[in-house]
Amino acid sequence: MKKQLKQLPLVAGNWKMNGDIGSAEELLTDLKAGLSANAPKCEIVICPPFTLLQHVGKLLNKNKYLYLGAQDCSEYGVGAYTGDISPRMLSDLGCRYVVLGHSERRTRLQESNVIIKRKAAQAIHEGLIPIVCVGESLNERQEGRAQKAVQTQISRSLPTGVEPSELVVAYEPIWAIGTGKIPTTAQIAQIHLTIRQSLQTKCARGYESVRLLYGGSVNPQNVGEIIRIPNVDGCLVGGASLKGGTFCDICLAY
Ligand code: PEP
Repeated sequence: MKKQLKQLPLVAGNWKMNGDIGSAEELLTDLKAGLSANAPKCEIVICPPFTLLQHVGKLLNKNKYLYLGAQDCSEYGVGAYTGDISPRMLSDLGCRYVVLGHSERRTRLQESNVIIKRKAAQAIHEGLIPIVCVGESLNERQEGRAQKAVQTQISRSLPTGVEPSELVVAYEPIWAIGTGKIPTTAQIAQIHLTIRQSLQTKCARGYESVRLLYGGSVNPQNVGEIIRIPNVDGCLVGGASLKGGTFCDICLAY
């Protein structure tokens, strides 16, 4: 059997609906300055809003650590879908990754597992790597249903038959996003193990090397502990990715 090569850890910065041309330039200048002095041992993905993708893509150009990602894509390839952006359009702009199923979209826009699965399949079809987000609500955590909730999301929102390099999964407990609260190391380890085991039914082979990210209030102070947790292969960062220097410190923890 062919041995799967271990992939580099991944640190993704999700800018959400923040930033303009000026702030993007400033952020990337600071990030690139930090990375030029110290080589990170991870892949870094910048996920700006759609409107900044092309500009940010040009600014990333020729930096060997930095990749471009989008925050969502259509489940369709092409056609009469006003306002949608297809995975092919994102590839065309130089995107390598796309965040899918973020809890802000699942909750606020009622994005279902079924739709997320279709989007992920379409993204893979067009050569993008989806970063599919899963994570329990505070109620589910408090009622002891966190593991089951995440297992269900994995089972229903990921396509089957994927190669390990075609997919990234991010565990983002909803109650930890933007709140400054994070689960204990044991809680993160337990959910990441559950995700790892659940991936056996999704991957054609090599489920052990699918990258699993932790996301939710990651910052330069707590990242050192997070990256040592088994089955954590990187992180998805929201608020702390909006300052070049802070995001750089997180990346350089690797
Ligand atoms: C996120 O929204 O994906 C996220 C992890 O946000 P924050 O880091 O701000 O908690």
